[in-house]
Amino acid sequence: MYDVIIIGAGPAGSSAAKELADKGYSVLLAEKFKMPRNKSCSGILIKKSIQLIHTYFGENIPQTVMCSPMYGKGMILTNDDGQEYRYEQNGLNIWRSSFDYWLAQKSVEAGAELRDETTATSCEERNDCIIVKFRGSKEYTEKAKIVIACDGAVSSIKRKLIHAPRNYITTYQTFNKGSIDLDYHFFYAYLQPQFSEYDAWFNVKDDYLIFGVSVKDTSKIEHYYSQYIAYMKREHNAKIETEEKAEKWIMPHVMPGCPIDYANGRVLFAGEAAGFLNPMGEGISAGLESGYAAAKAVQQVDLNSQFDVQPLHMAYKDNTISLKTYMERQWWFVAGLSTKFNAHKT
Ligand SMILES: Cc1cc2nc3c(=O)[nH]c(=O)nc-3n(C[C@H](O)[C@H](O)[C@H](O)COP(=O)(O)OP(=O)(O)OC[C@H]3O[C@@H](n4cnc5c(N)ncnc54)[C@H](O)[C@@H]3O)c2cc1C
Repeated sequence: MYDVIIIGAGPAGSSAAKELADKGYSVLLAEKFKMPRNKSCSGILIKKSIQLIHTYFGENIPQTVMCSPMYGKGMILTNDDGQEYRYEQNGLNIWRSSFDYWLAQKSVEAGAELRDETTATSCEERNDCIIVKFRGSKEYTEKAKIVIACDGAVSSIKRKLIHAPRNYITTYQTFNKGSIDLDYHFFYAYLQPQFSEYDAWFNVKDDYLIFGVSVKDTSKIEHYYSQYIAYMKREHNAKIETEEKAEKWIMPHVMPGCPIDYANGRVLFAGEAAGFLNPMGEGISAGLESGYAAAKAVQQVDLNSQFDVQPLHMAYKDNTISLKTYMERQWWFVAGLSTKFNAHKT
């Protein structure tokens, strides 16, 4: 019997695993894919993410997980009407495959057991534990006193436990060789309604110029993407020599009030699985912070007794109040910049 099984080795899962292993809990960190695994992401660590890593992992982020340009200068945002706003802030540019692997390895060094190529397929609550079903090279079960589900936006584990609405944004981004007349150190976001149903973006990673759009209706990807590329060619002299890769992903659609699913019985939800994501699509800091908050909540109950889940849930909710407030503040900020966000106001 493990004290805690953590499902998903993204930022949320690894920060929970590291904190619990540090405190002497027996922890299994299960990851569906072979690590290092790909995660579609712009890979920008904002200042808050960098600070959280220093606090939780006590280390500097190694250069081996970074890409060029290594240091970001912030974000340049263009609103619905084409008006530009500059938000300067130092950040880091990382590849998620190696960054997430580094975080997971830090939790292993702290004493967690990492089992990759292992999919959790269900969680079944018993009197004094949770039975987690896994599919790896074979099917089997493991037991834990508490589970933290950090299995990302879709969270099949959460969906089997509670009937949360499926409310997603689909992202589509391409990796291109070429050139453009923009400062490679900035992340550019475009809120004009003709380019996306949420936002469109541009950033640079190593030799790649990355262009992305996000939609509610996936049949519109091609339409928005071609409008957006035409604009980037016209306004910023984008020259695409070759498109090397394209990827689609999903993220939660952050709604007014930023609703969060905290827990069900002995299962806590963290990161995107819970709904933690800052409205402009920045979710690494929210993953790190909520994973850590879940780990802290676990430490507030006595796992060796027949504990009540209510104090566990309350502790987790309390530990994430400032994170939720931060999300809500950000939501109102972007709602002030774009009618697409305003349209969802209740
Ligand atoms: C296109 C795009 C660009 C983005 N850019 C940025 C950015 O620049 N900066 C930023 O801060 N955020 C960005 N985000 C958001 C950020 O990627 C996420 O918010 C963050 O990764 C969430 O962390 P997480 O730990 O909750 O989930 P994830 O990072 O998604 O990790 C979940 C893990 O769970 C595993 N898993 C899933 N199901 C199971 C299962 N059943 N069993 C075992 N394992 C399972 C997955 O394989 C995965 O490894 C971006 C998102 C997208 C889509």
